[in-house]
Amino acid sequence: MYSVMLPPLARLLASDDSLVSRGYRRLQGLPPGSICTVPFSTYAAYVDFHRALVPEYRRREELEYKLIGAGDSFITEGRCHVCNHAATFTTNFDYAPGNIRNGKRVPNWREHVICTRCGLNNRLRASVHFLERNLGCSEAADIYMTEQSTPLYHHMRQHYRNLIGSEFFGDRIAYGSNDPVTGYRNESVTKLTFADNSFDFVLSFDVFEHVPDYLSALRESLRVLKPGGTLLFTVPFHKGLPSTLVRARFNDDGSIEHLEPPDYHGDPVNPEGGCLCFYTFGWDLLSQLRTLGFASAESHFYWSSRFGYLGGELLLLTARKPD
Ligand SMILES: [Zn+2]
Repeated sequence: MYSVMLPPLARLLASDDSLVSRGYRRLQGLPPGSICTVPFSTYAAYVDFHRALVPEYRRREELEYKLIGAGDSFITEGRCHVCNHAATFTTNFDYAPGNIRNGKRVPNWREHVICTRCGLNNRLRASVHFLERNLGCSEAADIYMTEQSTPLYHHMRQHYRNLIGSEFFGDRIAYGSNDPVTGYRNESVTKLTFADNSFDFVLSFDVFEHVPDYLSALRESLRVLKPGGTLLFTVPFHKGLPSTLVRARFNDDGSIEHLEPPDYHGDPVNPEGGCLCFYTFGWDLLSQLRTLGFASAESHFYWSSRFGYLGGELLLLTARKPD
């Protein structure tokens, strides 16, 4: 499919800003105001596309490089979809050790470009944008989110009346009940307490990489989705990896074996602890989702200088339950 469409697609994506290119949206049948994502379900299709878009990637990289300011943090301007307002975004150099080009530090764009109004970073703002516009999530939709203590949950709570969030406290609190101190609901993503066919959307942002048995978590997401419902999620995903990289695993005696340098991410309910990242996902994740029973599974690549979705090419993942 893409081999036929590539020349016009590449031109359209390169026209001033990939997000607002009306021609591209029309070509893909995307609703107005949606993110101009390019969806892929296999590594092979992506590789062809990537090769054809090398000049566009170079253009984005140059543009981003010029935005990087001196000092420990810098500001860029744009528009925040979440705030529906002109926005100022802040970026620093955390989570980007050794990322240097021509003597200049390059930030981890995915985790920054934080809107000073709503406090949401690049990938979270794009996730909300994609949910609302590309997936057409209505205010009455039944939604489950695998987080509850975060700025993103608080934003969602104001807009979606049938939203349920949770955090993970382990066995010390009954699953499905609330932690008496924080009031947050306790759920394990590998054994959710919700009934089958409960939600129109399951949302999970950078959680599954911390779950050793992530296939059970995906199976549970499928179970609790209504027919035709969508799992929208992000995880560390390496575009060049056909197969998922196992970073760490449990031995039979319960100890953890590190196969790659340990990578700990922030844990909102345990800020001093941090969460070990067990996987860097590759393209086999999409075929695993289809094998589990999802009707489709896709990665959606996007970029926009206008909306501050910087970082060359970031991606969101979706998997849809059969009707
Ligand atoms: Zn904002």
